[in-house]
Amino acid sequence: LITEAVQAAIEDWTALLGPAHVVCDRASLEAVETATFPTHQRVPAIVRPGSTADVQECLRIAAQHGICVYPVSSGKNWGYGSRVPTADGCVLLELGRMNRILDFSEDLAYVTVEPGVTQRQLFRFLQEKKSRLWMDASGASPDSSLIGNTVERGFGHTPYGDHFSFACGLEVVLPNGDVIETGAARFPGCKTAPVNRWGLGPSLDGIFSQSNFGVVTRMSILLMPQPDVFETFFYRCDDPDGLPALVDAIRPLRMQELLRSAMHIANDYKVLGGLRQYPWEETGGVTPLTPELMANFRKLMTFGYWNISGGLYGTKAQVNEAKRLLRKGFSGLKGKPNFVSPNLLQFAKRFSSPFKMLTGWDIRRTVELVEPVVDLMRGIPTDHALGSCYWRKRTPIPAKPDPDRDRCGLLWYSPVAPCLGSDVQELSKLAINTMLEFGFEPMISLTVLTARVVQCVTALTYDRDMPGEDEQAMKCYHELGARTRAAGYYPYRLGTASLSERIEHTSCSDLLAGIKRVVDPTGILSPGHYDEK
Ligand SMILES: Cc1cc2nc3c(=O)[nH]c(=O)nc-3n(C[C@H](O)[C@H](O)[C@H](O)COP(=O)(O)OP(=O)(O)OC[C@H]3O[C@@H](n4cnc5c(N)ncnc54)[C@H](O)[C@@H]3O)c2cc1C
Repeated sequence: LITEAVQAAIEDWTALLGPAHVVCDRASLEAVETATFPTHQRVPAIVRPGSTADVQECLRIAAQHGICVYPVSSGKNWGYGSRVPTADGCVLLELGRMNRILDFSEDLAYVTVEPGVTQRQLFRFLQEKKSRLWMDASGASPDSSLIGNTVERGFGHTPYGDHFSFACGLEVVLPNGDVIETGAARFPGCKTAPVNRWGLGPSLDGIFSQSNFGVVTRMSILLMPQPDVFETFFYRCDDPDGLPALVDAIRPLRMQELLRSAMHIANDYKVLGGLRQYPWEETGGVTPLTPELMANFRKLMTFGYWNISGGLYGTKAQVNEAKRLLRKGFSGLKGKPNFVSPNLLQFAKRFSSPFKMLTGWDIRRTVELVEPVVDLMRGIPTDHALGSCYWRKRTPIPAKPDPDRDRCGLLWYSPVAPCLGSDVQELSKLAINTMLEFGFEPMISLTVLTARVVQCVTALTYDRDMPGEDEQAMKCYHELGARTRAAGYYPYRLGTASLSERIEHTSCSDLLAGIKRVVDPTGILSPGHYDEK
């Protein structure tokens, strides 16, 4: 693995960054070679630049010696490949040291960040500033980066949930060492640089998301003004076939912007996986959890077959009107939406014991279920969801979860459907049946990201310490991909587990290959990452 060329590059990187920032010890390398599914890629070194100039020089050194590099911002791409590079022998370019918040405007509602800035850091920053702006948080770790998530076109829960749509003014280091800026930011002294994503001329932002054309070293992110009133709604549907009607009820409300947030529909398995680990005792150690047993848990823990949540934002009048129209829109469905404000949640928490005595309803369970979701809907990052990676582990969830270290098995596969009841139903059935067929609990969530598309995130969750499960999960993952694509549902994002099945040749493949040749003549950046055949 340590060829002469690698050795020479390591010497040059060490001269540039100092020995503390070029890591070659075996334990550290093994950690970054580990994901939540089997990988074979070996990493000869971790290089940690501290500035854009460092990144430029690091890439020039890589190109000069013909060494491939793979950038990560915080490297918590759990379920999609963690920090493991796309090719064997790739050096890991860790950008965590570049963690400055470079610019902020309360009036224009944006922040400009470096790649190492995490969700937690931005949240604290806004609190310290006593800002009336909200960030959008994803359900990933609070210590995951904003830029890594955004370049992968990740999403969260507020009206600003589609992250790449709210990003602009990128600074990018090309693999040949050049630096470019996108949108209005490319014009020297341009006053709208951090907020005017189009600028003038061709818009280039998109080619730096889900690609291997450059390393993003700066990005501006638009923030959401805190609304006067914020409430959430929850609705449970107990009918397995109730999904199409639910989706068709939501779409017009979302289309008319009465519902503005990215709403989530979780199936029963997904909810259970967020509440507890696998019921080993109740099942006598048998997997998967059958739909019959699942029905008992639904009853016991009071959640539905399908469970939808969303945020309502605006003035008091706007939120009241949204509630009225939501009730009306759902009037053809069984059951009613429940509205929960943060105050109501606090109240329920405080008085849960007398409430239980009076009604017999253990409201703490409901609070436990909805509180992290309510937090996410107002831009508060939470590590609550990380526990779900330990679903099939027989050991308890540790205080500091690390799914790579703890050999949690997790593979996300995320196909997209049009926001039509019939399509969402077809896709969900395909996913559920495939996962059950392979012996895994079909945990799925459906995010109504826009009025027109629904992102279906399936989570293959297992225990890497159980013999044979890695292989079985990989088989299931590839089958899930093949079946959903054959039905016309393509993924919104890919993990490194998909590298063996490169994207088929499309009408864009030649153009993209041409761009790659121009920006990366030596092919050193993330080989195979979203490459087309
Ligand atoms: C329980 C759980 C819940 C999750 N919930 C969500 C969710 O709600 N929404 C969501 O989107 N994801 C979610 N994830 C998936 C994932 O954890 C997040 O997307 C996370 O933000 C990605 O990790 P990161 O920010 O550390 O990115 P990184 O690991 O740093 O990078 C991700 C990818 O982007 C590339 N990249 C990173 N930085 C740069 C850069 N500066 N320039 C060019 N390319 C770069 C990397 O090469 C890599 O391929 C969840 C994961 C778990 C385990």
